[in-house]
Amino acid sequence: MQKSKIIEKVREAGIVGAGGGGFPTHVKIQAEVKTVIANGAECEPLLSTDKYLMENNAGDIIKGLRYIKQCAGAQEVYIALKRKYEKAVKEFKLIIGETSDIKLALLDNYYPAGDEFDVVYNVTGKIIPEGGLPLDVGCVVINVNTLLNVKRALDDSSPVTDRWITVSGEVEKPYIASVPIGISASELIKEACVKIKDYRLLAGGPMMGVPVEENYRVTKTCSGIIVLPENHSAFIKQDMTLRAHKKRGKSICDQCFDCTIVCPRNLLGHSLEPHRIMRNLFIADENISVYTPSFLCSQCGLCNMFACPMDLSPRNLLKETSDALSRRGVKNPHKKRNLKPHPEREYRKVNASRLSARIGVDKYEKEELPVKSVLPGAVRINLSQHAGTAALPVVKEGDSVKRGQLIGEIPRGKLGARVHSSISGKVKKVTSGYIEINKGENK
Ligand code: SF4
Ligand code: SF4
Repeated sequence: MQKSKIIEKVREAGIVGAGGGGFPTHVKIQAEVKTVIANGAECEPLLSTDKYLMENNAGDIIKGLRYIKQCAGAQEVYIALKRKYEKAVKEFKLIIGETSDIKLALLDNYYPAGDEFDVVYNVTGKIIPEGGLPLDVGCVVINVNTLLNVKRALDDSSPVTDRWITVSGEVEKPYIASVPIGISASELIKEACVKIKDYRLLAGGPMMGVPVEENYRVTKTCSGIIVLPENHSAFIKQDMTLRAHKKRGKSICDQCFDCTIVCPRNLLGHSLEPHRIMRNLFIADENISVYTPSFLCSQCGLCNMFACPMDLSPRNLLKETSDALSRRGVKNPHKKRNLKPHPEREYRKVNASRLSARIGVDKYEKEELPVKSVLPGAVRINLSQHAGTAALPVVKEGDSVKRGQLIGEIPRGKLGARVHSSISGKVKKVTSGYIEINKGENK
């Protein structure tokens, strides 16, 4: 298939990075690169949808990968996944064989093995420059769920209507499901039977997930709904005000350096030393170069959820710092290239099982999760589930729509992604932010 045809079909299907970034895939695949990497290194504790997809859809993932290889004119193609996913490794080996153009890159069980910077280094030995992209070292990295969507768009002209997610945590029946986009979190946790009275929800994993309410709606980038006790540190740290973070930091940061020791970006040679920013946050200093390394933070959360013995939150403070600099019109000045990893990187990587135990979610881990089907009576589909500009509604209240029908179009000349109806039914409400659809008789 011609490159332009592949890009057009991916654009039509509304595919965005399912790994969390949400970058429109039809834009990402336009570049010519040497290396394409399928990212199956899902590293957040409790999430296991990518593992399930690789075990059960290896053939389709490989078909999607070959389309991307062709589109990018790539010479090298890898599937990066954890060594411990033995069943998925076996499935891929069976399909690609020993002499295939696709190679497996087996990774250790550490966090954040799925971060693009770590994936690219582990697979190619190249380090993405400060403030850079995989493209800067001739790579495109694509999540395995995104590759499944690519395969379906090209072979079946199927748009993105559903999303694979994990529902887990303080629930009796954790599960994996492919659910219509726009389904509510309350419908998903009802199926899982929450075990405790005082709970809250995270959209995503316990390290990088965002606290949400039960009326939260699943998007193309939502990898899980996690139920945790309301006093879990994931909520306490995110709820705290900047003032409180600063006050605590000022009182008790002892400059022990532990946050910098585990920082994955520091371990790849980037000029990010969170302990230094913590030390200087409280000094009236006009020398902003002290603070600009905060632009290099990936928000992985290791410093505040795992490392800090004083229970401080460098991640939150770095986010606030980089946001404040951006508001002042300061741009990331850090562009160092040709970086070398820290000599102790291999020994400082944080084992994923140790991390799960440290943040108190190891008791929810399960080797295999059952697959369920959850069908909503109505959906509320966000028009901005991706990087770029929100889609423009192309339906109106009262319209009948079919599952897969286009309901949001990319504004002319803008970066964005199309949005499709995830169920058949009647349009109940249209706003500039979302479209509500009630389930109907249309199939
Ligand atoms: S780990 Fe905590 S106490 Fe130690 S330097 Fe970092 S923020 Fe300060
Ligand atoms: S969140 Fe903390 S550990 Fe992660 S990249 Fe940022 S500073 Fe480093």
